[in-house]
Formats: sequence, structure tokens, C-alpha cells
Amino acid sequence: MVQVSTAAEDFPFYLDKEAFKQSVQRHLHTTYGTVESKANSLAWWKATCSAINELVFEGLTETHKKHSGIDTRAVHYLSLEFLMGRLTRNNLYNLGIFETARDALTELGQDIDTLCSEEPDMALGNGGLGRLAACFIDSLATLGYPAIGYGIHYEHGLFRQEFRDGHQIERPDSWRDYGNPWEICRPESIQKVPLYGYVETEFGPNGKMRKVWHPGEMIRGVPWDIPVVGFGGHTVNILRLWESRADDYFDWDVFNAGGYVDAQAEKARAEAISKVLYPNDETLAGKELRLTQQYFFCCCSLQDMLRRYKRRHDDFSHFAEQIVIQLNDTHPTIAIPELMRQLVDLEGLKWEEAWAISQQVFAYTNHTLLPEALEKWDVVLFEHVLPRHLEIIYEINHRFLDEVVAKKWPNDDQMKQRLSIIEEGNPRMVRMAYLGVVGCFKTNGVAYMHSELIKKELFPYFYELWPERFTNVTNGITPRRWLKACNPRLSALFDEAVGTHWPTDLTLLRQVVAKADDPKFQKRFMAIKHQNKQDLAKVILQLTGVEVSAEAIFDIQIKRLHEYKRQHLNMLHILTLYRRLLQDPDLDIQPRVFIFGAKAAPGYKLAKDIIFGINKIGERINADERIKGKIKVVFLPNYRVSLAEQMIPAGDLSEQISTAGKEASGTGNMKFALNGALTIGTMDGANVEIREEVGDENIFIFGLSADEVSSKLKAGYNSRDYYYNNPELKAILDWLDSDYFTPNQPGALASIKRSLLDGGDPFLCLADYESYICAQQAVDQAYRDKARWAKMAIINSASVGKFNSDRSIQDYVDTIWKLKSYPAIE
Ligand SMILES: *Cc1c(COP(=O)(O)O)cnc(C)c1O
Repeated sequence: MVQVSTAAEDFPFYLDKEAFKQSVQRHLHTTYGTVESKANSLAWWKATCSAINELVFEGLTETHKKHSGIDTRAVHYLSLEFLMGRLTRNNLYNLGIFETARDALTELGQDIDTLCSEEPDMALGNGGLGRLAACFIDSLATLGYPAIGYGIHYEHGLFRQEFRDGHQIERPDSWRDYGNPWEICRPESIQKVPLYGYVETEFGPNGKMRKVWHPGEMIRGVPWDIPVVGFGGHTVNILRLWESRADDYFDWDVFNAGGYVDAQAEKARAEAISKVLYPNDETLAGKELRLTQQYFFCCCSLQDMLRRYKRRHDDFSHFAEQIVIQLNDTHPTIAIPELMRQLVDLEGLKWEEAWAISQQVFAYTNHTLLPEALEKWDVVLFEHVLPRHLEIIYEINHRFLDEVVAKKWPNDDQMKQRLSIIEEGNPRMVRMAYLGVVGCFKTNGVAYMHSELIKKELFPYFYELWPERFTNVTNGITPRRWLKACNPRLSALFDEAVGTHWPTDLTLLRQVVAKADDPKFQKRFMAIKHQNKQDLAKVILQLTGVEVSAEAIFDIQIKRLHEYKRQHLNMLHILTLYRRLLQDPDLDIQPRVFIFGAKAAPGYKLAKDIIFGINKIGERINADERIKGKIKVVFLPNYRVSLAEQMIPAGDLSEQISTAGKEASGTGNMKFALNGALTIGTMDGANVEIREEVGDENIFIFGLSADEVSSKLKAGYNSRDYYYNNPELKAILDWLDSDYFTPNQPGALASIKRSLLDGGDPFLCLADYESYICAQQAVDQAYRDKARWAKMAIINSASVGKFNSDRSIQDYVDTIWKLKSYPAIE
């Protein structure tokens, strides 16, 4: 493990309060042209960012000098999503100047929390996959590794969610309407991206065949760099995001032909490519614009890499030593044929040479086993947008089937069909995951169990062919954002208990396990939890108007809304408790607040119905005086990184209840455990590894295992059996047909019941219902014993050091990337 010193005295940028104050004031005057008496919070925030940027840019320059000076190997992390959240607080902590800045601003009459909340979230991602990319680039910079993130500079990130009468409404997200102080435009590195058109076969003077792509359109890619400050400030890497623009010369052509209006339309079409993030999580869109987005940013990023490489090298013999490219899911796999195109068509390499290089450069991370999320492109659409790439994929496939598959399984046409990158159906489809496995030297899953399922269920024949290509890297989260910055009270307690080095070596927290039985430590730990809950209660009141008590169990489920994540199973538990309370108002249960946060993909009908259902059930329950406030239900609108940062420190119970075998890893589960929430969860994804770390007695596990789920489905699962055999379950499901929760709208919640019965309950909510209710009763019992709960919470927080994203990155470095660390600033 690389040791990067992060003790406070080792931060390279020492800046005193006076200097920071003066810098903020100077920027207020000379950068933003305002004065103290006129400036609002937004102006003060921007001036503060400019003051921070003086340090950030120095780090950026030093890092660039160091890394280009030694011409080192670097990882290029390609991701269609980076869910960064806010950067101000994060940058202050990572530079080691948070307290300095806070005190300086206080003296200027400004509150740092207010200023930080002026920053719109940078929500260029949907959920876990995009947040993982953000944690990874934080860890790469923290560990001093040469790395660059490549993605799309979406004009609109993930939509803003509002509720109207309980229904989700989507509003455009405009994260840079008033300018973004962190991004730097780099017009000197603009790239050109060809699209459409046709391919011509030419024969050169030597009789050599050459493919020439005559594109129908050219787009410009304009790079915007976001500095990524590592913790300790020793390295500042960049995240480079591409914005699409119309090509100048193309516009002029049309203009000269008298097509001024047409030229404007062309411009709008070009700019549409980076206009908006697709809001589908775990479902494929299959739309032309989506494929165009994928190609656009891969094409720009590869040209950028080649340009940088060619500045120092005359041929490509060292390319694979210098460059490794990680594909975050299949979204950027089009980069594989694109590199082949650039090397063969543009640089004149032989196919075999180019393929040998390409095979050493790419690695692929699989994020899902859900069939509806596996990317496939209609061959006809593909050929229309990227005619040359389809030819290249055919060539890759042809060679793979003839040289590899035929050797392993001679005369086995069925095996060829099975493993072909082209699915021979109607329509024919390009299987992007197969292209990923064939074109990459490593394929990894994101938690132990998921990686096993990849080998056994998703790619069994590829695994037989190339067992050495498959590996696991369990996901992680950055403890800087997800503990130090978001939970300062608990961080201070840990500083006191184990010293200040835990933000880079989270396993140090293990020492705290020894204090789990200490009543004094328990009191302090739980007092912090209580304060965090009081803070969240204020936020809840503000956002929903519902008053909740910090004495109650804070039972939280926050994640994208999806059937496999089973928010509706949580809903069934709420209905069960509510019904029991109505039957016996004196029922002795621990008071609970059920807290939700989730966005549904705008086209995902059932997911939106579940949001509506939880909102309506909540309204009824919160207003029902008969149950004396014993349970409350709140759904916080517009779940996003900055809201997660306020919710997670206040969690008592973390709901991780996906159908076993469906959640690849989960990272929300890690954030909660680190902040001292207990998990109620299935044996799925990283829950399995969390249980290993915290011990079976400190987690509430329930439900069918992944094996049991698949055998149940194979044997012909009938959810009605559970409905008819459990009168309580039947009663609460029948409730959904009434107008009890939706006065004057009978049946408004019926679609949820229908999906669980007529719809066949594909994610086995009813099969797991009883086991879930039992586990929830065990939670209720455990919470009554304050000392026991405190002990369990402390052990959770202290035992999940494994899930530091620094560890994930070190695993990638050791098994895939083979990088050396070069912190730029000593
Ligand atoms: C961590 C995080 C996620 C992922 O949560 P899971 O529970 O792992 O699905 C999604 N969205 C945001 C905003 C996050 O911070």
C-alpha cells in the first residue's frame, strides 16, 4: 500500500486565515466586480472558490509538470457518468484548509455552510455507477497516481425531482446557469468527431487495400477540465469532460449556399449530443442519440490520448506501456473499435499490430447482471451512425470466432453463435458486453459475489475460454466525503480515538472496536448520532412539513427507484406495522421514521407508481392520530449527493433489501455502515462482505439466497401462494385496491398489487416478505437495548475500513493497471 502522508502538518499548502480573507475579498472585488455591501451568498461563494482555486491551480500545474516530466504510465478512466456532487467543502478538506476558510469567512460575516449550499450539485450521473467514478478519481489523486477521468460535459445533469400530489415531476437540472467556478475550458485541445456517411475501399499505389470513411457530419468536442484535488493536496489530477459543438467550417458551407436557417439547425443537432444525461439507471435506452454520445466522448478521449502520446513517441511500440484504459461498464466499449480505426485507418498500422496493442490497453468493469441493462445495439442503427465501426466489429468477431472459438470448440457452430458479438436475431444486434470481454485483457465485477456470478451465469463460456481474464475488485467509497466532510462530529470523535490518519487508512478505525463496550464511549457515539438526527429532522421539516422525533428509529432507504431494489417490500412492512397499530393502538413498538429518497426513470411507470404509493401511504399515516405518531413516513424530494450527505450521518437502519443476485455491489450500504447505521439486508452484492467484516451478530440478514432465488424462479415461482397463505399479507395487498390511501381515487395504488400478483412478482417480494418482517422485529427488539444497539453501531462504523475506495484503487493498480505512484508535491 502506498503511504501518502496526510497529517495536518504535512499539507503542502499552508495558508493562514488573514491571507485567505484577503484573497476572498480581492476576488470579490476584482474577479466578480462587486463589494461586501452588495454581494449576496452566491457572490461570496464564487469569491471563496476563486480563493481556493489559487491553490488548486498551483497543484494542477505542479502535478502536470511532474507527470509529463517523467512521461509515466497513466490510467484513463472512461465513464459516461461522474456523479460529483458539490466540490467546495471537499476541496477545502482535501487541501487541509477547511477550518482556516471557515474562520476567515466568519470574520467576513459569512457562514461557510450557507456559502457551500449555494453550489448546485454536479449531477452528471444517475446513481451508484457514476458516484463510483467520482470516488475513484478522488482516490486516484489521493494516492498520487497519474490518472485522468474522461466523460461528457452534459449541459443538463440528472433531472430535478419535485412532487405534485405525490407524483414525481421532472424538471431540468441547470448546474452551470450562473457559471461553474471549478471548470476550465481548454479550446487548445478541441477534437473533431466524424459521424454517419459511408465507407469506401481504396487501393493504394502498392495495391494495398485501405478503408476510407467519408463521414456525413463533423462535430467538435470542446474539453472542460475539472481539477480533482487528492486528499493531502499532493496531487491534482483532472476530469476532462467533452462538450459537443457544431464544426465551424461545416456551418459556413451551408451558410454560403444560402442556408442560414439550415445552418442553425445543424448547430442545434451538434449541440444536442452533450445536451442531456439519459436518466435511465439499469435499463438501456437503445436510442441513436445515446450511441452518438458514447461514440462522441470515446472518440475525443482517444484522440486526446494519441495526441499526448505522439508528442513524445515516433511509433506505437510503447503505447501499451504508457496507457491503460478502464471502461466503466459497456457504455464506452465503442472505444475498442475506435482505437482500431485510429491505429489502422489513420496511423497506418497493420490490423495484427493494432489488435495486439488494443488488447493490452483496455479493461472492462461489468456493473450488472440484469438482462434489461445489458447494452445491445441494432445493427442497422449502428451502421447508420458508425459504418466503419460496424465493419471493424465484424472483423474482430470474425477473427475471434475463427481463431479462438473454433480452436477451443472445433466444428461447434452452436458455440460460435452463442459467443458471437453479433446476436443473430430479428433485428440483428451488437452485444456490447461481449465486445468488452473479447477486446479487454481483464473483465472485473464489483463485489465478490457479483464477480462469481459473472463467471458462472453471465459469461460461462468466455470464462472457460479465458479464466485468467476474469477478476474481482470490490467497490469502495471515499472516506473523505462520506465520513470526514459529511459527519464532522463523528470524525472528531475518531480523531480523538485513533489519531488523524484514518481518512487515508480507514482500517485504523478497527481500534475503536475495543471501545464498543465502553459505556462512556457508547454515550458519546450515540449522542453524536442523536445530534445528526436532530439536524436531519430540521431538513425533513423544511422539505416535507412533517415533524419527526429524533428519539425514533431513523429507518432509511435511499437509492434509485427500481423493482429489484424493492422499495415496495419496505412499503409492505410499513403497511403491516400500520395495520397492526390500527388493530391494537397500544401495540408496543419502537417509534420509527421511515425515510425515503429516490428518483425514478421518467419512463418507468411502476417505479413512479411506487413513489406515488409511498407518498400517499405516508400522508395517511402521518395524519392518523390513532397511532399516536408511532410511525411516520417521509419521502424527501430530489435525492442527490448533497442530500445523501445530510441523510447518511443520521441513519440508524440502512435498508439494503434487493433480491439476492441482483445488486452487483451497492455503495450506499458502505456509506451507512461507516456512519454507524446497522444494515437490514439480503445476501446480495457487497452486503455479503459487509457481514463478513462486521460479524453476523451486527447485521440483520434475511431472505432467500441468490441460489434459492434462481431455483425458485426455475421451479415456477407463484407469488399467489404467499398471498393466499398469509392473511396479513393478503389484507395489506387488498388495501391497495381500495381508496383508503387515495380518497376519491379508488385503485390508484392497484398497479403495485397487480405487479406482485398478475405480474408474477419477478423480484420475489412476497417470497421474502415474512422473513423481512421477522428481521424488522429483530431490529425493533435490538433498539430497545440502548447499550446493545450502541455497541453494534460502533462495531459497524469501526469495521468497514475495507470499503475505502483507496483500497479498491490499489486493487485495480495491483491486478490490472500496474501503475506507480508519483505524488507531485512533497
Ligand atoms: C451512493 C449513492 C448511490 C448508490 O446507492 P446504492 O444504495 O448503492 O444504490 C446513488 N445515488 C447517490 C446520490 C449516492 O450518493
